Amino acid sequence: MKVERYDYAAQFGPEPENLLNEIRGMLLGGRYILTDEVKRFEEEFATFLGARFARGVNSGTDALLISLLALGIGPGDEVITQANTFHATVAAIKLVGATPVLVDARDESFLIDDDQVAAAITRATRAIIPVHLYGKPTPMSHLLDLAHDHGLVLVEDAAQAHGARLDGRSAGTFGVLGCFSFHPSKNLAAAGDAGAIVTDDESLAEAIRRRRELGQYGQNHHVLVGSNSKLDAIQARILSWKLPYLEEWNERRRAVAAAYHERLKDLPLRFQRSDPGEQHVYYLFQVRTDRRNRLLEHLRSQAIDAVIRYPTPIHLQPAFADEGWKRGQFPIAERLAEELLCLPIRPDMGLDEIDYVTDSVRSFFQGTPTCHRC
Ligand SMILES: *Cc1c(COP(=O)(O)O)cnc(C)c1O
Repeated sequence: MKVERYDYAAQFGPEPENLLNEIRGMLLGGRYILTDEVKRFEEEFATFLGARFARGVNSGTDALLISLLALGIGPGDEVITQANTFHATVAAIKLVGATPVLVDARDESFLIDDDQVAAAITRATRAIIPVHLYGKPTPMSHLLDLAHDHGLVLVEDAAQAHGARLDGRSAGTFGVLGCFSFHPSKNLAAAGDAGAIVTDDESLAEAIRRRRELGQYGQNHHVLVGSNSKLDAIQARILSWKLPYLEEWNERRRAVAAAYHERLKDLPLRFQRSDPGEQHVYYLFQVRTDRRNRLLEHLRSQAIDAVIRYPTPIHLQPAFADEGWKRGQFPIAERLAEELLCLPIRPDMGLDEIDYVTDSVRSFFQGTPTCHRC
């Protein structure tokens, strides 16, 4: 048996013919750029989340970058985010010329430590970017208060949290802007790179549109120096086609996670904490152990595609060497980088695969395979 981390094709189901015919029509009809398909997906995605506007861009990284540019954040401004995130969160801050200010994660939730955020605010701080890491929505009330009290903007990195909710409200709709990626690995996935920004603010939605369309306001009238970062029309069509399934896919991810929790709870493993009122969407399912590397080897030897996300925290990446961050500065992020391991989680995962993974994890800790049904 073999357990894969991804099965991209499975998302098209047994009958992809209608979608393929539509894409064929788009290809042969020359419908590629900012077509009705793009507008339609933007409307559907905004509605799904409960936001007023969505603007499609060409990646999650650009969603973050264009958000910061549209907010006028740049040199001299500080932006606070967490040391345990994917590279793109911090790259976007650097790319606009602002200064990233890192804080540590919380040991139980793996999410940004809001008390450390409060302590990191200076007169130069302009924004806070919490990351809904692994699909768990970040508690927002303290961060919203901090933003309000200090006149800061909250930009959510929701690239791993499509459909995650906190007391019924969607991740990505708490802040002024919410940034999404539709990279093929994400819970809602394009067939290539794609991203979106959501907001309730009409003037920001327009600022984002200009930023992604070379600053155009009316044809050939460029009012600012913008990027070219539009959501591709064919990707938009694919995203619209998949969106109605997202809720069910997230539900299935939660069911796989529940089975993992149940069958592994007596082992010397820790898990990302669950909180009341949250709907986690399990972009990744993490187990935590100080024997992480040997567990990874064991699972790989049994053809289970477990993986480390992310092995090096932001402050220890060579790309950010000039920030002067030191080993030991964000100890929880460092420990998480050493101790977390992702077990495969996919909406289309079969019971036999879940059995195989949990039996394999159990056999690592117990020395002998255990059949959970025996
Ligand atoms: C995937 C991801 C991004 C970047 O998205 P791309 O579409 O790959 O550019 C940003 N932040 C986080 C947390 C991500 O997981």
